[in-house]
Amino acid sequence: MASTVAAIATGSAPGGIGVIRISGERAVAIAAEVFSPMDGSSLCDMKGYRAKYGHIVLDGEQADNAVALIFRAPKSYTGEDVAELSVHGGLLMVQKTLEAVLKAGAAPAGPGEFTKRAFLNGKLDLTQAESVAELIAAEGEQSLKASYHALQGALSRAVNGVLEKLLDTSALMAAWVDYPDEEIPALSYEELTATLSECQTALQALLNRYDNGQTVTKGVTTAIVGRPNVGKSSLMNMLTRTDKSIVTHIEGTTRDIVEENIRLGGMVLRLMDTAGLRDSQDLVEAIGIQKAYQALEEAQLVLAVFDASQPLDEYDRELMEKCRGKKAVAVINKTDLTPLLDTAIVEAAFEKTVSISAKFDEGLDSLSAAVSELLGVANFDTAAPLLANARQKQHCERAYESLCEALDGAAAGVTFDALNVMIDSAADELLALTGKKATTEVVENIFKNFCVGK
Ligand code: GDP
Repeated sequence: MASTVAAIATGSAPGGIGVIRISGERAVAIAAEVFSPMDGSSLCDMKGYRAKYGHIVLDGEQADNAVALIFRAPKSYTGEDVAELSVHGGLLMVQKTLEAVLKAGAAPAGPGEFTKRAFLNGKLDLTQAESVAELIAAEGEQSLKASYHALQGALSRAVNGVLEKLLDTSALMAAWVDYPDEEIPALSYEELTATLSECQTALQALLNRYDNGQTVTKGVTTAIVGRPNVGKSSLMNMLTRTDKSIVTHIEGTTRDIVEENIRLGGMVLRLMDTAGLRDSQDLVEAIGIQKAYQALEEAQLVLAVFDASQPLDEYDRELMEKCRGKKAVAVINKTDLTPLLDTAIVEAAFEKTVSISAKFDEGLDSLSAAVSELLGVANFDTAAPLLANARQKQHCERAYESLCEALDGAAAGVTFDALNVMIDSAADELLALTGKKATTEVVENIFKNFCVGK
């Protein structure tokens, strides 16, 4: 860990600038070997939070104009000395500068190594480190906001608030049990129950928000289904603003599932346009139809499309039946044509029904509102603490279960030392959640999923 590491911090595509980040004890000295400031000064004499304009020098020759940014430990992202070289963002220049930095003595940074060092140096806790990865992966606006608030410590504060109460209670109980003769204020079962219930409620609130949080941050798989020609592909295109799905008036055009991620109402839908539902003698189409039914079954959200200009037929009715009990929005398309559909029957079968004209691009706002209301994320507060992944949820669940046990025990008059074991195990889970008591294995596992340069 003591070594100085370096990596390209920006993307692997050409851009205006590319940044090489170096972190560790020798970061500035190594940067000084490849960068010479325009004013003839030495990078090594620079204080933190300062920038110098100068040249990248490769094999003794000036190769590019660049800017060096210096951060001094502990006031940097990693908590170590950090130098960032911003060069012109042609990929070759960025790579050559990195090679020179490695030649000057830096080791190549592993996946997530900068964030891992930040964690190990106490700059971030594990939930914040994980939110760095979420922030970079975020596709939807809500997801972006939620990860930002996690990075600011929204979840850490909520968890640490509970943890503090548990540790105070545990210390008091231990003292009470171990030193019965000392004048330690007595703790009653009522007080204990009140504190534990408060902690239990706080954890319950976090667990309750998990599913909606996942919907908002990870997106939902969404199947667009309906019989042929109702306008499924047109709806897909309206949503994606592209012509990815093939639109024709010939029935059975979409045979395989066409997939695309889109943002709707601040969240991400993982859209699947499917083959039209009907009986088909064509083998390929029949397989497509089978896949459509499977998508309908498995999707977290269904957009069931109906044609406003046609009366309901057996396939429409079958679709209505299959959507029962699912999170499904009825999308009545072609409202620009003379209405023949009995919309009341459709409306009665679905929790949400919206009218659109995919051809004239009408109805997107009401579809967006219906989707976020149906998924329960219309008023989702992205600033509130949020468990971001299965690891965090599991620790929270286990802590919650230990608290339930402790509360049951307190109600049954179980001794304080026995109760304290349960409280300690809840506290341990919360310490693992924020990483204060995470094993090396867990930490390695988290950071191995990061990209190099983060
Ligand atoms: P799919 O088979 O359900 O995917 O339907 P398509 O999207 O391929 O559309 C079938 C036909 O309906 C095409 O000729 C589209 O131009 C037409 N269509 C789709 N949406 C509308 C609409 O809102 N209004 C009208 N008038 N025609 C539409």
